[in-house]
Amino acid sequence: MKLIAWLDELSNEDVDIAGGKGASLGEMWNAKLPVPPAFVVTAYAYQYFIKECKLDKKIKEILNNIDVNDSEELHKKAEKIRKLIINAKMPKDLKLSIIESYNKLCNDFGNGKDIFVAIRSSATAEDLPDASFAGQQDTYLNIKGAEEVVKGVQKCFASLFTPRAIFYRVQKNFDHLKVALAVVVQKMVNSEKAGVLFTVNPINQNYDEMVIEGAWGLGEGVVSGTVTPDTYIIDKNNLSLKNMIIARKEIMFVRDENGETKTIETPYDLKEKRVLSDEELKRLSEKGILIEKHYKRPMDIEWAIEDEKIYMLQARPITTLNEEKNKEKKSSESMESEGEIILKGIGASPGVASGKVKILHDINEIDKIEEGDILVTKMTTPDMVPAMKKANAIVTDDGGLTCHAAIISRELGTPCVVGTQNATESLKENMVITVDGEKGIIYKGEIKKKEECPQVAPVAMGAPIIITATEIMVNVSMPEVAERAAATGADGVGLLRAEHMILGTGVHPIKILNEKGEEALVDVFADGIRKVADAFYPRPITYRTLDAPTDEFRGLEGGEEEPVEHNPMLGWRGIRRGLDQKEILRCELLAVKKLRNEGYKNIKLMIPLVTNPNEVRAVKELACEVGLDLENDVEFGVMVETPAAALIIEDIIKEGIDFVSLGTNDLTQYTIAIDRNNEYVARYYKENHPAVLKLIEHVIKTCKKHGVKTSICGQAGSRASIVEKLVKWGITSISANIDAIDTIRKTVARTEQRIILEEIRDGKNNK
Ligand code: PEP
Ligand code: MG
Repeated sequence: MKLIAWLDELSNEDVDIAGGKGASLGEMWNAKLPVPPAFVVTAYAYQYFIKECKLDKKIKEILNNIDVNDSEELHKKAEKIRKLIINAKMPKDLKLSIIESYNKLCNDFGNGKDIFVAIRSSATAEDLPDASFAGQQDTYLNIKGAEEVVKGVQKCFASLFTPRAIFYRVQKNFDHLKVALAVVVQKMVNSEKAGVLFTVNPINQNYDEMVIEGAWGLGEGVVSGTVTPDTYIIDKNNLSLKNMIIARKEIMFVRDENGETKTIETPYDLKEKRVLSDEELKRLSEKGILIEKHYKRPMDIEWAIEDEKIYMLQARPITTLNEEKNKEKKSSESMESEGEIILKGIGASPGVASGKVKILHDINEIDKIEEGDILVTKMTTPDMVPAMKKANAIVTDDGGLTCHAAIISRELGTPCVVGTQNATESLKENMVITVDGEKGIIYKGEIKKKEECPQVAPVAMGAPIIITATEIMVNVSMPEVAERAAATGADGVGLLRAEHMILGTGVHPIKILNEKGEEALVDVFADGIRKVADAFYPRPITYRTLDAPTDEFRGLEGGEEEPVEHNPMLGWRGIRRGLDQKEILRCELLAVKKLRNEGYKNIKLMIPLVTNPNEVRAVKELACEVGLDLENDVEFGVMVETPAAALIIEDIIKEGIDFVSLGTNDLTQYTIAIDRNNEYVARYYKENHPAVLKLIEHVIKTCKKHGVKTSICGQAGSRASIVEKLVKWGITSISANIDAIDTIRKTVARTEQRIILEEIRDGKNNK
């Protein structure tokens, strides 16, 4: 049994030895992909460490009879074990092996000088549903010196004993001492130039082109969009340079002597200088092709060049569509000329897909939707979600950009056109159509795309590096898409809607309460929230309490009692309903409390459709009654979705809140009197109406004055032009749809950079 394994000794088969991360790095290394060199302290080494330091007995004793539901006890004991591990004297031979391996890394790749390394936990427990439970995904960057490396490895070992990990193992009856962890020690690249390579041109979706972006220094600037890089278009057939745009590169990212990343002004002679030579472009293109071949799909690759050597730091599939459905998502550029347009509506979820029309007049017909069909209906309802998941695309008669069909399809990554007014009549059962969810156009027949190319979810091989001061969060409506949302690399969840947790059960919450009792309803909420909290841990998630419109809940089993309202959007919903039906709200608060006790410290609470400070007070009182501490323990905020809340935001702040989130879907409809679900007035629905923007600006600036954080989780947060304004006004975070995260991240980074540059310029002018 080896204590250390080098990448050339590992492959995907070696998860038991090197953990998931270590094994995958080995696989890439042996496929001749130029990943930075690394060695792995094996899972066996961890077990050897525990045994030789006689920690197994001590750990067993500490954890004997632990009550994991007692949060204080759990945290104390977890900390005690972690300290034991960190402070233990590492067995001499293991320590020596790590030091020798680090020195070899320095000799081979650092000219004998101590080099900076990243130290990362690599979980082996692939049999667990979420390997991150086995050990936190701890990473220590910019570590230098053999002793520091040894300490870093010990810290990673200790991450197997976080409260969450212990809790989970107890719950699942896993033996604490049978789980092991490997640790990857990898050279950090200090590049002279770096950037991104797309093996397919993502702008015009031309599969015969590759795009390489490059800038000076570290890659963080390009990845985050803070630096405008040079762009090189490569002909994929002969690897020749087709076109290039040389940008003015005002700033660059560099690493200082302590290993910290910092931004400096680009030296004058480099600002407008071309970053990549023809020869480097050729070498990069060859690597790009190698990686695409290895992964068998178009890839988005982060590269870096240090001492003329190319490194591939990360590789992800380019697109955001679902591989299982293998949807035909293609550029909609050339389609208008290719096909016969038979219907138009509002493009609500991007992508193009073809299939057979299946018209759902009634939920009882749901079974006729098969994998790959086009679901056509008046308006989707929550009980149609299983069919929506199977559909290649969705078309509705009714609705605007924030209706049910639009929100859910965006989350599923399924092309969708809403508000066609008469799709259920003009389209015929079983006819084949092509839906362009971006332009809102439906074509007759199937329009073939240029080249088959599987589309996949953005499975992260590590989240993208995020360097925006404004946090980029993601919206989640269905807990089952949590993994996909987490893979965007977002900083957390800015809005986790509760509605689908209930709608997914098909049963009205009052019926669950009456027939199964409080605990059952608490568990419905807790199970949904846990799924998302897990996928994002330790990134924060913001759980919003139930905003149940009567029309959506009437369809549930036991929902017959829901009042029939003239306009449900102005009716019994939001927190006013929550406070009328405290028995349900209570269960939601208890669910959050339960998860806090399980060790999930990453859950925030938010309430919907607030109009009055009294509502904030009442929720706090109820939370206090159930033992949930919204003053000191759980971050608590309100949604600003009504002009009322925006105008009296100062009074709401006085009640004591940590944050507000702008719900522009509702704020827009209530400000300009446009029903967000009414396709007849959808063209007047404008989130950038000056009145809406004025309310938003007022809220952000007032909150800033009072030290209250601000976010946005309405659809406007996925619009680049609006986001620019929000950043200028000083918003703290933006929560966007899954498909918009990349664009929004870049928009935010550019806006921030512009603000900094303007400030620098102003400062200079003032001197
Ligand atoms: C909003 O109103 O902007 C919002 C995010 O809430 P929902 O779309 O769930 O009403
Ligand atoms: Mg709302």
